[in-house]
Amino acid sequence: MSRFLSKRLASLKAYTPGEQPKVENLIKLNTNESPFPPAPGVEKAVKEAAEKLQLYCDLTAGELTRLLAETMNVSENQIICANGSDEILAFAFQAYGEKGLAFPDITYGFYPVWAQLFGLDARVIPLNENFEIEPAKYGSNDRTLVIANPNAPTGLALPLSAIREMLILNPDQIVIVDEAYVDFGTESAIALLPEFDNLLVVRTFSKSRQLAGGRLGFAVGNPSLIADLNRIRNSFNPYNVNSMTQAAGAAALRDYAYFEECRREIMKTREWTKDQLLRLGFKVLPSRANFLFAAPPDMGGKEYLEALRKENILVRHFDAPRTKDYVRITIGSKSQMERLIEVTKGLIK
Ligand SMILES: *Cc1c(COP(=O)(O)O)cnc(C)c1O
Repeated sequence: MSRFLSKRLASLKAYTPGEQPKVENLIKLNTNESPFPPAPGVEKAVKEAAEKLQLYCDLTAGELTRLLAETMNVSENQIICANGSDEILAFAFQAYGEKGLAFPDITYGFYPVWAQLFGLDARVIPLNENFEIEPAKYGSNDRTLVIANPNAPTGLALPLSAIREMLILNPDQIVIVDEAYVDFGTESAIALLPEFDNLLVVRTFSKSRQLAGGRLGFAVGNPSLIADLNRIRNSFNPYNVNSMTQAAGAAALRDYAYFEECRREIMKTREWTKDQLLRLGFKVLPSRANFLFAAPPDMGGKEYLEALRKENILVRHFDAPRTKDYVRITIGSKSQMERLIEVTKGLIK
């Protein structure tokens, strides 16, 4: 830290992203990326966009927004695109954080970091002993609510009825539903938008559309909320989604069959892996995401992670009192998960 850094930021604890090591033959199950390549049409679309890189990109991400509106069955003025859903969430925290924020104690690790970065007060609401979000705990609330559904790193999902309950309990607060993992078996809260003008749904192309490196996220909400977020975007970085990423996103959306095939394969492999781990005596939460939150028998989460690392398998561990017994395992290809199970069998007595 230099002596010039703003005092306000001296104690800022930055988000720790999962490692991205460049090691040969690594089985990388630590950052919830897809094991599959982008849709076949993406490469050509990006090449074509690259031929016009001397020009600024389309500020409105017009074609991408049109396709998203069609896919999500909403109007174009209900959508904003951004440089990953992280950027959308950062816009939303700035737009709606003045009265403070509330989110679960165990959730996406970036929420407390943004709160601190933007100087916003954060209230942490504990999950119950089964790691579940209890909607009733979010009543009599005077702040913007943020929940991930399915939640991370637990993988547990709330039904739409629970999201509806939270919206009804909070008619005068914004409720942000971060749906990074919704495509792996959860109903989207987008269905509730016609009823609630205080709902903002945040989505990403990183997990279920094979484009984590492209950095593309979007939000869906009431047109007035989308206008708020555009106001912030246009006061910060109006060209936030570059032309190659716009083209990649549009190409990915056009190939619906490939998207379906990939997400179905991941869900199938998830259930297979879960059964295998249960047989080996693991505790495994019922996941609706592209990862499993699992605790090995007779071993701490960190110990298991380190043993796997020696075999070139990378998973993620969250070193906090409630999560330390568990690791989060991204669902990779079937053969990667077979290797994980084979190695794990050797580690469990
Ligand atoms: C991965 C993830 C994000 C961020 O996704 P990007 O679009 O890659 O920025 C946001 N929220 C949750 C819960 C995530 O797991």
